[in-house]
Amino acid sequence: MTDTQSARDRLLDLVSFNDTANRGITPEQAVDDAIHEALLNQPSLRTCLVPGCLRQYDALSCMNGAAPPRPEWSGEGWATLGSGTIFPAGGHLCPDHKQLVTDHLPRRVKLPNDRWTVDCACGWMPAPQTWHGLLRALWEQHLLTTTGQLPTPQPIPDPDVPGTRLPLNQHTEATLTELYDRLWDAEADREETRDTARACILGYTAAVPALLGAKTALEGLRARITVDSRDWSADKLDALLWAVLVGWNCENTEEGHVHDGIDCAGDQGLWDIARQHDIPIGQTIQAGNHRWWVANAIKVAKQIEDTDKSKEG
Ligand SMILES: [Zn+2]
Ligand SMILES: [Zn+2]
Ligand SMILES: [Zn+2]
Repeated sequence: MTDTQSARDRLLDLVSFNDTANRGITPEQAVDDAIHEALLNQPSLRTCLVPGCLRQYDALSCMNGAAPPRPEWSGEGWATLGSGTIFPAGGHLCPDHKQLVTDHLPRRVKLPNDRWTVDCACGWMPAPQTWHGLLRALWEQHLLTTTGQLPTPQPIPDPDVPGTRLPLNQHTEATLTELYDRLWDAEADREETRDTARACILGYTAAVPALLGAKTALEGLRARITVDSRDWSADKLDALLWAVLVGWNCENTEEGHVHDGIDCAGDQGLWDIARQHDIPIGQTIQAGNHRWWVANAIKVAKQIEDTDKSKEG
């Protein structure tokens, strides 16, 4: 009979009828309360995500700010890993491994060709994979290799890395697959690069004629103004036009040139003319900036013309 007796019944046999009666309950109520409480307070254990680490903490007591059922289940010093890593549901890190995983934080990267890789904080990046579930295993292997628990793997034959090229007769299915995968990735990269290059060329072919046209117009205006017999410093608006189109300051940027204000216009011309016409400081600075933009646009346009000429010649 006792063999088939349930744990609850055995517990009931042990409960004193008198003791429970003194508290105003039945033995059945006392046992059911105990079972209910035990079920509610079951520890909710979380394990460290580092492979081989057996440390756990009790999320429930940690969340409630209560003492853990066992001291080794304390949540003190633990950290959680967010989504956006190769752990889509997040993960838990014991105090021993917090630094290690911070140094190797595995960010999940989706490549344009629908393949996946890991951007490890240390710079490691595995060959792209079609199934993102593989990333975790690859990263774990990387982690164990870094900590010395696994031997460093044979380098994958890489045409870009000297000394890793395999003789043809030593190639296996796996090494060839690796090379084909790289070829596939390179082809996807090429598509992307071609699109970028096309966008650059389109932008360039539209911007260059516009810039060269503006240069011609600005140089024409400048020539028109400088041959005019008028005193361009007498009138305020004239002085501002001159400031932007010609410039009151010396613009000699040659190495060793020192503005002396005698052989050159010096670097105070704009301020002098501003004072003469009571032009506010803000407006004077703005005129100086506009002059710089105009001169710079002409300079860049000239550089483009020169490279075009040297290409033709
Ligand atoms: Zn750990
Ligand atoms: Zn790493
Ligand atoms: Zn000068």
